[in-house]
Amino acid sequence: MHEIPDTFKQKGLRRQMIERLRSRGFFSDSLLDAFEKVPRHAFLGDNAFDEHAYEEKAFHIGAGQTISNPYTVAFQTHVLDVVKGEKILEIGTGCGYQTAILCQLGAKVFSIERQRELFEKARITLNQMNFSPRLFFGDGFKGQPAFAPYDKIIVTCGAPFIPQDLVNQLKPGGIMIIPVGENEQEMTWIMKNPDGSLEIKELGKFKFVPMLEEKQRSNDKLFFRKP
Ligand code: SAH
Repeated sequence: MHEIPDTFKQKGLRRQMIERLRSRGFFSDSLLDAFEKVPRHAFLGDNAFDEHAYEEKAFHIGAGQTISNPYTVAFQTHVLDVVKGEKILEIGTGCGYQTAILCQLGAKVFSIERQRELFEKARITLNQMNFSPRLFFGDGFKGQPAFAPYDKIIVTCGAPFIPQDLVNQLKPGGIMIIPVGENEQEMTWIMKNPDGSLEIKELGKFKFVPMLEEKQRSNDKLFFRKP
């Protein structure tokens, strides 16, 4: 087992982040507990100051991508209403922080990332923390049909539209949370009814990096790796 360094200062900054989230008044104790247990600084790479890890800001993680703001991660997790043992598909692993939070809450996580560099880095970080999500390198627009259906689906990049493949891979009664829009996104909650129809609610504006299709379709194959 690898030890993630977690200094007194880092623990203190993390506690302050959690108090800021708690003061919003609607996050559950179990959600805040997961945020306490996952050392967010470990996802930012060696060059980041501890302060950056725990500010309510998105932060660059390389390959032109960002780690989502802790409030955004908490908000999406809250809305997803994670129950232990649920199968959750995540689109946009990025650095793996949201993935770790879902694992910490006891979900069986399947996560797809289209940038190889981030896919590889997230695998190492999550492995060091002894989390074992199934990580895939590929195009999230297609989901991961081999393991469908999913209880929940979470998209962590700004989607230009609601991908039909993801809707198809959601269980009846399942919930998807997806930011939809180009420059700014509307956080969209979708529930699939038993008859396949969708209930849709809009939960407010957020800002994400865009959900992009794989550039080279010939390289579009999904590679499966256990972290
Ligand atoms: N979940 C991350 C958010 C990372 S930002 C966190 O916890 O901070 C969004 C990520 O989505 C980026 O890494 C980006 O490369 C990825 N992404 C964009 N389009 C994608 C697609 N079609 N399939 C899979 N990942 C995608």
